Amino acid sequence: MNDELLNQYLQETIPLNEEWVNKLESYAKENHVPIMDAVSMHFLQQLIRIHQPARILEIGTAIGYSALRMLQANPNATITTIERDEERFKYALDVIKAQNKLQQIQVIHGDALEVVEEIRNQDQFDFMFIDAAKGQYKRFFELYSPSIRKGGLIISDNVLFKGYVANPSNDNPKFTKIANKINNYNQWLINNENFHTVIVPIGDGIAISIKK
Ligand code: SAM
Repeated sequence: MNDELLNQYLQETIPLNEEWVNKLESYAKENHVPIMDAVSMHFLQQLIRIHQPARILEIGTAIGYSALRMLQANPNATITTIERDEERFKYALDVIKAQNKLQQIQVIHGDALEVVEEIRNQDQFDFMFIDAAKGQYKRFFELYSPSIRKGGLIISDNVLFKGYVANPSNDNPKFTKIANKINNYNQWLINNENFHTVIVPIGDGIAISIKK
């Protein structure tokens, strides 16, 4: 079965969303904001239902879509999420406020490479979702994994990057360069003895790492 048919089939297994979810997805599409694809989000929510993290850390808020969807999967959680783009940060705050979730979702405006201290001063997290600049995943992981408790999960999105990671080709040099960086991250991650890691070929590829 080809990837497109498979993805379409999986899309059809997703229950209908509430109206605010559809609206945010439409806004993201119209304004070229890269939010997590529907099938991956469905999977991420299931991971959260299984793991029941009380404290979630997210690198890459964009417009608050994934933070709100993670909270949907565990309504008792609290989330700290970091976004460096000012316009997206403000939009995320508005959206989170409109959903009445400002008490549970803290949005930090800043570069995740620079606001580490703010996070280190907080209690440890049970779950981290890395979904920001792809060339920096290793740095994000190194900087923030000390703030994840033993047994906590770290989820990295886009680790198969449009298929280019497993099948490097020269038809798009920019994509090939990104894919090489992601491949280096994947190799480093799966050989990291402090974590059990598995890569799942869903959506754009998701790595699930459990802290030993
Ligand atoms: N997680 C979001 C969702 O699914 O709704 C999508 C996040 S989008 C793929 C990546 C976001 O990370 C962008 O909005 C970008 O501005 C932000 N970003 C990239 N590098 C960052 C960094 N070093 N620190 C903070 N934010 C960063």
